[in-house]
Amino acid sequence: MSGRIGFVGLGNMGEPMARLLAGAGHDLHVYDAGPAARERLDGVAGIRVAKTAADVADGADAVILMLPDSDVVEAVLLGDGLLGRAVPPTVIVDMSSSVPARTRALADRAAERGVPLIDAPVSGGVTGARGGALTIMVGGPAETVARVRPVLDVLGSSVVHAGERPGAGHAVKALNNLMSAAHLLVSSEALIAGREFGLDPAVMLDIVNGSSGRSGSTQTKWPRFILPGGFDSGFALRLMLKDMRVALDLEDATGTPAPLSRAAVDAWAEAAEALPADADHTEIARWLEARRAAGPTRTGE
Ligand code: NAD
Repeated sequence: MSGRIGFVGLGNMGEPMARLLAGAGHDLHVYDAGPAARERLDGVAGIRVAKTAADVADGADAVILMLPDSDVVEAVLLGDGLLGRAVPPTVIVDMSSSVPARTRALADRAAERGVPLIDAPVSGGVTGARGGALTIMVGGPAETVARVRPVLDVLGSSVVHAGERPGAGHAVKALNNLMSAAHLLVSSEALIAGREFGLDPAVMLDIVNGSSGRSGSTQTKWPRFILPGGFDSGFALRLMLKDMRVALDLEDATGTPAPLSRAAVDAWAEAAEALPADADHTEIARWLEARRAAGPTRTGE
C-alpha cells in the first residue's frame, strides 16, 4: 500500500513516525490536539495538517493512531467522530499502547461499518521511531495486516503478527512493558546498592551486560539515560505505569499469580505520585536514589 495516510497523535513517537512515512513517499494528513505539535509538521513536504481529527479519515487508505491510551483513542474515534467518517477500504491501525479488551470492542464497532481496525503497538522508543527501527506487534486478521504491511515496514525493522484477533498486539505490548519496568526497577535497586558498596556503576554494567542479569535496562536505559544524568528517554513514567496496570489486569483476569508484578506496580505508582506529571520513566532510578538518601524512615520497609 502506498498512498494516503491519516495520522492522529504527533507526540514523542507520532511526530518522527509521520515524518518517516512522508519521507517514504506517502501522502500524510495529520492531526494533534496540541497546536505546537501541529505547527511542527506544518510545511513539511508530503504532510498536510488537518483541522480536525475526523478530517484525516477522508480518502485515507490507512488511519494511524499514536495516542496516549484507550481513553484518548475512544475520544478520537467516537467522541471526535473519526470512526463515523471512515469508510471502506480504509484500515484503522491503533499503534498506541491501549487496553486489549477495549481495542476488541472498538474493532467490533468499526466492523459494523465495514472498516477493519487492527492494533500495532510498538517497542523501541523515540530512537526506534526516528530510525524506522521499531518492533511492531500486530493484532488482527492476516489479510488486513497484509494490506498495511508496507506502511508498517517503513516504521519498523521487525513486524510480528501477534494474533488474528484485534487486541493481541496490545496484550503483548502491555506484558512486555511490565517485564521491562520490573527489570528497570530491580536493576536500579541493584546498581544503587552496588554503588553504595563502593563499586563503579559503569563497571558493574559492563560485567552484568556480559552476564545473566542483563536486560534492556542494563544494556540501554542505564548507560544512555540514567548514568549520564539526562533522564531523557522520551517515554513518560505515567505511560509506563499505565501499561503495567493493563498487564496486571490481564494477569488477574487470567488467574495468574503475580506477586512480583503487583509489587512493581505499587512501587511505580508511588514514584508517579512523588515525581512531576511529565517525569521520564527512567526517573524511577532517581526516585529510588532519593528514597535511599532520605533513609529508612518507615517501618516494614
Ligand atoms: P506523547 O504524550 O508524547 O504523545 C501523544 C500525543 O497525543 C500528544 O502530542 C498529544 O497532544 C496527542 N493527543 C492527546 N489527546 C489527543 C486528542 N484527544 N486528539 C488528538 N491528539 C491528542 O506520547 P508518546 O510518547 O508519543 O506515546 C504514544 C503512545 O505510544 C503511548 O500509548 C505510549 O505508551 C506508546 N509508546 C511510547 C514510547 C516512547 O518511547 N515514548 C515507546 C513505545 C510505545
